[in-house]
Amino acid sequence: MTTLPEVKLYIGGEYVDATSGQTFDNVNPATGEVICKVQIASDADVNRAIEAAKQAQKAWAKTTGAERGRILNRAVALIRERNQELSELEVLDTGKPLQEAVVADAASGADCIEYFAGAAALLKGDHYDLGGSFAYTRREPLGVCAGIGAWNYPIQIACWKSGPALACGNAMVYKPSEMTPLTAMKLAEIYTEAGLPAGLFNVVNGYGPVGAALSTHPDVDKVSLTGSVPTGKKVLQGASETLKHVTLELGGKSPLIVFADADLDNAVSAAMLANFYTQGEICSNGTRVFVEESVHNQFIEKLVSRTEKMKIGDPMDMETHVGSLISEDHMNKVLGYIEAGKKAGAQIATGGNRYTANGCDKGFYVEPTVFTQCGDEMDIVREEIFGPVMSVLTFKTEEEAVRRANDTDFGLAAGVFTKDIMRGHRVVAELEAGTCWINNYNLTPIEMPFGGYKHSGIGRENSQAAIEHYTQLKSVYVEMGDVDAPY
Ligand code: NAD
Repeated sequence: MTTLPEVKLYIGGEYVDATSGQTFDNVNPATGEVICKVQIASDADVNRAIEAAKQAQKAWAKTTGAERGRILNRAVALIRERNQELSELEVLDTGKPLQEAVVADAASGADCIEYFAGAAALLKGDHYDLGGSFAYTRREPLGVCAGIGAWNYPIQIACWKSGPALACGNAMVYKPSEMTPLTAMKLAEIYTEAGLPAGLFNVVNGYGPVGAALSTHPDVDKVSLTGSVPTGKKVLQGASETLKHVTLELGGKSPLIVFADADLDNAVSAAMLANFYTQGEICSNGTRVFVEESVHNQFIEKLVSRTEKMKIGDPMDMETHVGSLISEDHMNKVLGYIEAGKKAGAQIATGGNRYTANGCDKGFYVEPTVFTQCGDEMDIVREEIFGPVMSVLTFKTEEEAVRRANDTDFGLAAGVFTKDIMRGHRVVAELEAGTCWINNYNLTPIEMPFGGYKHSGIGRENSQAAIEHYTQLKSVYVEMGDVDAPY
């Protein structure tokens, strides 16, 4: 059993005690045991963090991009050096398999900060020749940015928000999910060790009200949330009073369309990655798998055989493919959807149960589950389950596949498998989704913008696109002649 010291808040470059006197228990989902207590930030603590950020940001904004990049690159080196330690901490907090965490979590966070560390020195405005007089633009920081994270990729999300924010000259107050507060604290330590001035990255812990305090605060200039659609709506509403900039990375129910000419082994690999990686707790997952009727049986045969070979178990074991879901409540929600799917007439091709063998009885494990005979109106096909539950549907024509794929309020991601190059591009052009893959799924390299259409979000993370969301443009007109006044 692992027990860690009580988690405090991180404000002004150091750990501080919350003034609320309240704590919550942080649970290791793989064992159901309490890892540590976490102090909850009061409104006064949130104000203090925002004030620290506000003070520090003024000087930070006056440094050159190259200087900011140098400090951020030191943080990147520390994250990479400590990848094992950070990955183990992430596994303890999330229940995800260590074999994933060592390659996908802190590593992706480091890639992101590195990208924006480089981009910092390239920030620039434009010059406009106005025939004698001229104008130019300055790309300026927004000020204090709030980051609010989800629990599935805790350190990655903290890096994806703080990396571009800091590179562009902003300060950040970050609230990790109450389910997974551990690695954001380590990130704060790393930034300080890398030489980031105190107050530029602060962490406040707590539930929704702490996030709401940030997203409504008059001294916060931007809020970036990764979370569910209902929370996104609340954050947008809260931010409207002070007209903050808002980035929302929300949920999805994304389609993955497999045409008969596709390489079926690759399509099955992608469908498995798109549904079972991180126990299915990934926003962009392709949970509605549309398979062309003529290859459906072959697809299911390959899929079931490979899914049944996946190893469920202790997430710290490097052989484990499927770890624990984040909490008992979440497991029950996922199991509830499985029951609803059965009741609605969908057939279980494999899985469908809680997994309690091999010492997993205290954790919150669910077998990778494949439903066939699914209908477009079923809850399992319409709603985000956020667990290892795949719905396979069949289609006959391209037009039908696209129409049904788009029949959702979500629009985070989509995938197409086909060897027909023209069809691949034609279909993605029709799909209403912010991130699409042809012949792969769920790859999110830092160079590529990531974000949603429709109810799946507003704004983009990663790439040059994120810079637009962490800066504002000032236009400056310069008069080189006399002022032409009619009076
Ligand atoms: P959630 O919406 O319950 O919580 C997200 C964060 O918002 C948490 O830190 C929470 O404390 C905070 N919060 C809750 N109420 C708030 C309020 N009123 N004001 C401000 N903050 C508030 O989501 P979750 O359960 O942590 O994460 C799962 C969801 O996140 C899924 O829907 C998933 O699809 C989505 N997600 C999206 C992406 C993406 O990049 N698009 C990535 C990961 C997860």
